[in-house]
Amino acid sequence: MILQRLTTAIRQQSWSQILTEILIVVIGIFLGLQVTDWNEKRQDRSDESMFLVRLHEDMLLMEDIPSRVVDRRMNLLTSLVAASDLVLGKSEIDQLTKKECFAIGDSHIVSMSIPGLPSLAELQNEGRLGILRDSELRLELITLQQRNQTFKELIIEVGLYQVNLSREFPALIPARPYFDEALKEYQISYQCDLKAMQSSAAFIGGLGMNIDAYDAYLRDGLIPWRAQAQKVHKLLDFALELNH
Ligand SMILES: [Zn+2]
Repeated sequence: MILQRLTTAIRQQSWSQILTEILIVVIGIFLGLQVTDWNEKRQDRSDESMFLVRLHEDMLLMEDIPSRVVDRRMNLLTSLVAASDLVLGKSEIDQLTKKECFAIGDSHIVSMSIPGLPSLAELQNEGRLGILRDSELRLELITLQQRNQTFKELIIEVGLYQVNLSREFPALIPARPYFDEALKEYQISYQCDLKAMQSSAAFIGGLGMNIDAYDAYLRDGLIPWRAQAQKVHKLLDFALELNH
């Protein structure tokens, strides 16, 4: 219709008519773009709210595991260091406690499943991370993702240096499985022969490596990873006006 009117105006060389028709087309395109832009923005706001909720759910899942594991792992390192003092003869005490013996036996175990952030991955795959308007939250989410990766790599790296002491030195620290009625699962208990440990240079070397590796696992992996997860959670709580 417009094209027909424009053609007629050009044929009749009616310049004011030509200008009017062109203006109608330009204004029409401009309004069309404005409406599209407004719709996209409205969609982005709605998707942002949905993704904030989903990211928060991901964080709750992610933090559920560390809250149970971190304290246990920190306590294990404390017992491990105390046990190594005894093995190295730095103390008068001639027997390891059950906790210290267990720490030695479990000193090679650092594996941990680290949940990912599926909602963040989805946003990145769609190239829509920008719908999150809080630039600090975007930055901290990316940092958390990097920490996840670093932590996973560290677990693998640390595992290369660790020694399963009860398997390598079964006479010094034999392991026995037992069924834990409270947990309803099989656990391992260890028996420690402190005197024999003290006289084995190979055992002391292996214990030293495990302590170093365990310390790196906590200091460079678990602790900064948990701190980053808590930082992101706080920002999400703020964005969602949650207080818990
Ligand atoms: Zn929360």
